[in-house]
Amino acid sequence: MLDVQKIRKDFPILNRTVNGKPLIYFDNAATSQTPQQVIDVIVDYYSNYNANIHRGVHSLSQEATDAYEQARIKIQKHFNAKHSYEIIYTAGTTHSINLVANGFSSLLKKGDEIIVSALEHHSNIVPWQMLCERTGAILKVIPMNENGELILSDYDALLNEHTKLVFVNHISNALGTINPIESIIEKAHAVGAAVLIDGAQSCPHLKPDVQALDVDFYVCSAHKICGPTGVGMLYGKEEWLNKLPPYQGGGEMIAEVSFEKTTYAGLPHKFEAGTPNICGGIAFGAALDYMNNIGFENIAKYENELLAYGTEQLLKIEGLKIYGTAKEKTSVISFNVGTIHPYDIGTILDKMGIAVRTGHHCAQPIMDFYKIPGTIRASFMFYNTKEEIDTFIVALKKAIMMLS
Ligand SMILES: *Cc1c(COP(=O)(O)O)cnc(C)c1O
Repeated sequence: MLDVQKIRKDFPILNRTVNGKPLIYFDNAATSQTPQQVIDVIVDYYSNYNANIHRGVHSLSQEATDAYEQARIKIQKHFNAKHSYEIIYTAGTTHSINLVANGFSSLLKKGDEIIVSALEHHSNIVPWQMLCERTGAILKVIPMNENGELILSDYDALLNEHTKLVFVNHISNALGTINPIESIIEKAHAVGAAVLIDGAQSCPHLKPDVQALDVDFYVCSAHKICGPTGVGMLYGKEEWLNKLPPYQGGGEMIAEVSFEKTTYAGLPHKFEAGTPNICGGIAFGAALDYMNNIGFENIAKYENELLAYGTEQLLKIEGLKIYGTAKEKTSVISFNVGTIHPYDIGTILDKMGIAVRTGHHCAQPIMDFYKIPGTIRASFMFYNTKEEIDTFIVALKKAIMMLS
């Protein structure tokens, strides 16, 4: 079992107050908090072995290179990739998706089709629209139902011999829906299409196995799994990474350069131009260590309890409507109360030390589907507690009273 009081001691930020009240942090779907174990790794890097990697003969450079490459192997093991060079360090989910979308520019032609889902984050819509503009490919959308679940029979109807790519998030950041990616991947492969899964929202709660999923690309950001911002990864099957051209030109990604011709480095360096976020990569590995120490099964079980408890308590409030009631969902609750604007509730909650997100959550198509401008979103991680949910409910009732 998970000892939440012990875990909370790992997170210095949870000791602070906001507007004179103890912080209650329920904005985990936007970014997670960082445990001391990861902060220590960052401090250690800058205190003891900060150096540029791969090129140096000196000791610091070798230490930094070793730590950075060891972290890559940790990431490989965590996601069960076949090879460490199938893990590409990026600046995060958005960067990873753009890298793939850019690479496919040279692989698609007019009339090819790309399928995305109605549940996507903007970072998983816009790069594909841009790709379609560049190539003449056509974007198709898997629709969703009122519960916030994808309608798979409609997905079947969209797939055909023109389908080249399918892009779906593993878990929706706006609603918490867990999508049935196993069958989405299988069906795409049956028509010869490649699949990219946006794992930004799943990696904090689940431990995906990219080989078991047989997924072609899987992407995530370290900052949603207790790591720092500005670093993430792209997993790609070796055969696909070899097919994609480099994304950016620069140092580190070349084999040989002359003004007549440049040849590119092999994987993973082909996609890693310039000096990367070295410390971030190392801290990413440390964040995975931290979460694996707690154990993803323990995390999922505990967070499901928080989800069930939070849902039950919220539904007792008159006029409150929860958006996203999928059977399979994680600890994200999006809701509105009557006609009160989400922003007003969010502002009053902040006065009481409670951080929630309000707005469209970078998923405007979902808000359009429900014909609402936005929601209030409370998202829980394993360091949150039922007591915090109780305090949140009291504060929410107070806010509602003030606003109605
Ligand atoms: C947060 C998030 C992203 C974007 O991640 P960045 O770290 O901002 O690049 C993309 N997709 C989903 C589902 C997310 O939750």
